[in-house]
Amino acid sequence: MLYTRPSTVAGVLDELRRGAVVVSGGTVICKQLDGVDRIVDLGGVASLREIHGAQDGGQLLVGAACTAEQLASSHHLQPFAALSDAAAALGNPQIRRRASIGGNVVLCEQVTSDLYPPLLALNARVQMAASDPASESAPSEVALHDVTDPGWWHGKLIISFALDRPRWSSFRRYAWRQASGKPIVNVAAATTDGEDSTRVFVGGLSAVPQRVHGPTDPTIQRLAPSDYIARVVREGVSSVLKEVEAQCS
Ligand SMILES: Cc1cc2nc3c(=O)[nH]c(=O)nc-3n(C[C@H](O)[C@H](O)[C@H](O)COP(=O)(O)OP(=O)(O)OC[C@H]3O[C@@H](n4cnc5c(N)ncnc54)[C@H](O)[C@@H]3O)c2cc1C
Repeated sequence: MLYTRPSTVAGVLDELRRGAVVVSGGTVICKQLDGVDRIVDLGGVASLREIHGAQDGGQLLVGAACTAEQLASSHHLQPFAALSDAAAALGNPQIRRRASIGGNVVLCEQVTSDLYPPLLALNARVQMAASDPASESAPSEVALHDVTDPGWWHGKLIISFALDRPRWSSFRRYAWRQASGKPIVNVAAATTDGEDSTRVFVGGLSAVPQRVHGPTDPTIQRLAPSDYIARVVREGVSSVLKEVEAQCS
């Protein structure tokens, strides 16, 4: 197997064009490399591990290879409670030290991603580049909520996530009582200046987290695998909405 660790985004894209598979933290992909003959490690690109703060009302920029531990401990994320709380609750300390935000979003079809619902609630935009030379080669931006097919990330490199500072945001997760603590369902909400209503997203009911408009939204009952899970989700939605509304009033 050929392993490369370029120091630039352009170097990573060159490798993707040669058919390499991206490895970031490697917490999941390293167990799925049967038949893969070329991998490209994002760990050599310093800019992908940087967080730039939302000063003076500007946007927060989070590099795609930033780890859950970095997100949980960064002072830049203090105004983004839903995302930093989700990062602090993800997996266990060993996983948090490796798990990247980019890998977390790409994996949404395989695991209930803890970071995906907060990113959607916070209306994240994704800076990305396509490896296919026929499509745009320069980094471009997509609103995360416009990506409804998890397979869409195939052949693309996530570079960073851009977030506007919310008035308040909140996160709850409901997980197995195991050492790894993988989530069953999770809920995130955020209110941002200029938005009429609080954005609430539920993860775990479908591959891509779903937007719901309150605890009685019929989407919850329709997608929940059991009445018990539906009740848990409704409680979670009520709880995040109460917290956000209390903080914003
Ligand atoms: C024991 C255990 C517990 C876990 N617990 C949780 C949990 O509680 N909550 C949770 O959400 N997840 C959990 N996970 C899943 C996983 O660790 C995380 O989702 C993690 O964030 C994945 O990131 P990674 O950097 O390790 O991805 P990798 O394994 O490196 O890659 C995953 C996929 O994403 C692609 N990829 C990675 N980065 C990029 C990028 N920048 N652009 C394009 N494609 C990219 C890779 O090619 C691969 O297909 C757990 C995993 C384990 C093994």
